[in-house]
Amino acid sequence: MIARRAILIKLPKDKCDVDYIRRLTALTNLAYRDYETWVPDLPKTIQHQLLAFKNYMGSLVFGTEPKKWFAETWVPLKTLRVYADGSMKGDKGAPVALDFRSSVIRLRQVCRSEPGFVVELPMPKWVVERVNEGGDIKFAMIGLKSNVPYLALVAEREVESRDPSGYILAIDVNAWSNGVAYGIINPNNRIAEYSPLRPNLRLIDTWYYKGEKLSKELGKLKRLGLKRTPEAERLKREINMLRRKIYAYLRDFVQKRAHELVMKAIRLGALVIIDNMIEESRRELLEMKLPSGLRKLYLAYTRRFVKLLVTQLEWYGVPYRFERLPSTVCPICKHELIYLPGRVMICPNCEFKAPRDKVPILWAINLKYK
Ligand SMILES: [Zn+2]
Repeated sequence: MIARRAILIKLPKDKCDVDYIRRLTALTNLAYRDYETWVPDLPKTIQHQLLAFKNYMGSLVFGTEPKKWFAETWVPLKTLRVYADGSMKGDKGAPVALDFRSSVIRLRQVCRSEPGFVVELPMPKWVVERVNEGGDIKFAMIGLKSNVPYLALVAEREVESRDPSGYILAIDVNAWSNGVAYGIINPNNRIAEYSPLRPNLRLIDTWYYKGEKLSKELGKLKRLGLKRTPEAERLKREINMLRRKIYAYLRDFVQKRAHELVMKAIRLGALVIIDNMIEESRRELLEMKLPSGLRKLYLAYTRRFVKLLVTQLEWYGVPYRFERLPSTVCPICKHELIYLPGRVMICPNCEFKAPRDKVPILWAINLKYK
């Protein structure tokens, strides 16, 4: 099986011509639609690239075909890899060269339409790690995200799946308000470890409500026709800063926790069972009466967590499957459980009693023999 992972690298804005990149994305859109367009003022090498990729349409790693005309479609690019021992892979004329000898990435003519124009970027640690794991960066893409130029690198690797050791890592993906609960089940069907992973919700709440309060003040100024005053500008800046803080905090949390869990699974040779019950999470969040902005954010990051988790599990060949791991049904007799204060669940039928986060893990034991 081929596994893929991707990374986005922000390109230096001063060395990139955003309009040029936008034109390339428009041309890519046309190429996807089977049009052969030759634009006289663009380097031929780059235009050849776009047309060459038409043959890959069926097996694109670059996402789906653009649906809208003139949508900005990321430009696929071939790469040349020059390794530390001097060996080479890929197309010598490729516009993206990854040079592991001098630890740089060179972009030729993809940032500006000027003959011989090269932008050099430091080689990210991510790339070295993927290559050391047996990955290869055959393709790259360039594109814009809110007008900022980015380079995306796609690593791919042939993966052999690992034989499970009898350990299970069960992951219950609730909404972030309850965190993600995980449990390790050893080959004798005992829970060796279980714990919820929760972001610091109080911190997020504080930032969120502060942002809301400032947005209201800004709204007031706008209604008074004062939206261009220094006071309004200051408010806007502060609101954006708070928003960025929340995103950065959640992004970091999601990345670290997903990585930790994948590493745990690899160490134990575990089979990973994931409960990805977004619907239930949504209901739980609704019951908690969270403001909708915060709810959307939590759901978005829950999805992101699952996506990161699955991408990395595939990359390392860790076996995984999605299963429903109920938290409100008794894992012994399947009777509906009752909520007690302090997130404890009790079964009125068989006297089973366990913390709420532990119930899905117990269900995973039942599923082991499925
Ligand atoms: Zn029961």
